[in-house]
Amino acid sequence: MQILSVASECAPLVKTGGLADVAGALPAALTPHGATTRTILPGYPAVKSALNAPETVMEWPDLFGGTARLLAGDAAGLDLLVIDAPHLYDRGAGIYLAEDGKDWPDNPERFAALSRAACDIANGCVSGYQPDIVHCHDWQAGLAPYYIARSSAAGRVKTVLTIHNIAFQGLTGAERLGSLGIDLQDFTADGVEYYGRVSALKAGLQFADKLTTVSPTYAEELMTPDFGMGLDGLLRARRADLVGILNGIDETAWNPETDQLIHTYKAPRGKSANKRALQEEFGLSEADGPLCVVISRLTDQKGLDLLLEALPTLLERGGQLALLGSGEPGLEEAFKRAAHDPNVGVRIGYDEALSHRLIAGGDAILVPSRFEPCGLTQLYGLKYGALPVVALTGGLADTVIPATPATMARTLATGLQFFPVSAGALSNALDKLCDLFSQPKRWSKMQRNAMAHPVGWDVSAAAYATLYKGLSKEAS
Ligand code: ADP
Repeated sequence: MQILSVASECAPLVKTGGLADVAGALPAALTPHGATTRTILPGYPAVKSALNAPETVMEWPDLFGGTARLLAGDAAGLDLLVIDAPHLYDRGAGIYLAEDGKDWPDNPERFAALSRAACDIANGCVSGYQPDIVHCHDWQAGLAPYYIARSSAAGRVKTVLTIHNIAFQGLTGAERLGSLGIDLQDFTADGVEYYGRVSALKAGLQFADKLTTVSPTYAEELMTPDFGMGLDGLLRARRADLVGILNGIDETAWNPETDQLIHTYKAPRGKSANKRALQEEFGLSEADGPLCVVISRLTDQKGLDLLLEALPTLLERGGQLALLGSGEPGLEEAFKRAAHDPNVGVRIGYDEALSHRLIAGGDAILVPSRFEPCGLTQLYGLKYGALPVVALTGGLADTVIPATPATMARTLATGLQFFPVSAGALSNALDKLCDLFSQPKRWSKMQRNAMAHPVGWDVSAAAYATLYKGLSKEAS
């Protein structure tokens, strides 16, 4: 089975969030299941410069406003097709955001080009290569199922769309219909229209053969008005085609026994050496309570304003906080102010190596998200014995076994969950965390449970492979 994965980011080459981790790790995990993956990516400078032995396999005289070519090559163990289109992707600043922190104004066209290229490949434009399945990730690849459905590959090449976060819908004005190559007759509520605008994500949700999201609980949540962000009705209608498949983590990159980015780790004893090093790095002294860590985008979704409110509970109990993140200026400022407390350390920025040191040295990882499709940092926490304290939502609900008398008695508990997602409930969870931390036997039992919890790709890659196989049987 030949899979073409269509993604706007892919670890370790270019990453802003969990989507990149999935796009980067899934191809290798699928190989043992008989699925061979090629990944098509926009040719951002970082991607082009990483590409080994690039070869031009296709050319476009005009791809959304300029000439472009498709390069085939490999990088970081991935078999890549890269769209070399300088007018779209040769830019500084971010892959989605310009220097002013706003979306690049031509983002609809930049990612429509990714989808168009995927459609052309589905239609056999790369000599000697024919994908059976085109697997599209998020709104940036949302138009691919639409373009394919309106092309001669319709029915022959099957499409899957994975929702990594329904909050990002790729909205643009109806005046761009023509430039995006969308037929006016498809601009309806049953097509690509979202309340008077065009939604690339909705196009994918309407036209892909199968839909997936990144956890079973998020799949259920998406079908409710509270979480579906206006697309819950569509998803209820497509319930039979929607499945939640949990993300795994890349256990070659995230493995406490072999991690080159941390000091030493012989689990679980190595925790104390890493903790000490982390405290020093953040200017924190030794303390009686747990060292809690956070690695996150600082946005409303992540619920970190609740943590600011609940923080006094942790600090009063002798706990500490070390946070790495960046995002909304108001939250960045608030955490910088919180860092005036000697038991709080804050780093604003994006730092892959530091994120490993935080997970390795933290006693607990906090994820108080208001919604969380899957979440990855709690999975890293499980693997490295940094017990997750998470909101009861989405993938957080599916991956953490909360400490209750019953789960403790059966040596199952791996962390703490709180609900509702409020500062009060988080405060109570932090209080409970401190109680558990003060009981070393219970604590190390939970750490062992956490570290034994499977967080890799085995089960989920098998689920994707089963989905692909079912689809290829249906192909006409
Ligand atoms: P989301 O995709 O919503 O941002 P996830 O938890 O699914 O959230 O994935 C976030 C990924 O990005 C994780 O791999 C996390 O470690 C990483 N990450 C987030 N913020 C930072 C940061 N400031 N520095 C380093 N890595 C970060």
